[in-house]
Amino acid sequence: QNNGKLKDSMLKILVIGDLATGKTSFIKRYVHDFFSQTYRATIGVDFALKILHLDDKSIVRVQLWDVAGQENIINMTRVFYNGALAAFIVFDVTRTYTLESVAKWKADLDSKVQLPDGSPVPCILLGNKCDQQREGIVNNPAKMDEYCKEHGFTAWYEISAKENINIQEAANALISKILQND
Ligand code: GDP
Ligand code: MG
Repeated sequence: QNNGKLKDSMLKILVIGDLATGKTSFIKRYVHDFFSQTYRATIGVDFALKILHLDDKSIVRVQLWDVAGQENIINMTRVFYNGALAAFIVFDVTRTYTLESVAKWKADLDSKVQLPDGSPVPCILLGNKCDQQREGIVNNPAKMDEYCKEHGFTAWYEISAKENINIQEAANALISKILQND
């Protein structure tokens, strides 16, 4: 055992996806329980930290990395991905074309970061803005499940950063998945 010592782990999690899908809003809601309607593109690499006390003996520091305004470049630098243990890929359920980029984001991720055994890092797909009218395939959960299986996603969630829907659930699912692999 760890002789009563505190177990303290740092989890680097990436949040990637097209511009204006709500990556920054998701992070702000999860970390600060805050939402702003005003759109401000993130500049540079932004990250936020949330500290979880899982029990008396373990602390998890969840570090969320936001791609920050380079969403159109799609080929993120390796430095950004270094040391990441998992990722969220975000699309906008009101603009299904943002789902078309998801496979590219996933491929870019998988080409740049792997677990020590060479397998892809756990990745959860987030369909944000579910407080609004959904488009296309998002209305078909079975198709979305199939899509996730095909592209190697751990799971998918419909979320709303605005209305605080499924934010905790999605984050907890990814964190549990990381700790399982650990
Ligand atoms: P990013 O470019 O991916 O970081 O996207 P932002 O977080 O900056 O959000 C882009 C825009 O979408 C902003 O105007 C947000 O207010 C809006 N937005 C983000 N999340 C939601 C949501 O859950 N519902 C709605 N209706 N709008 C959202
Ligand atoms: Mg942003």
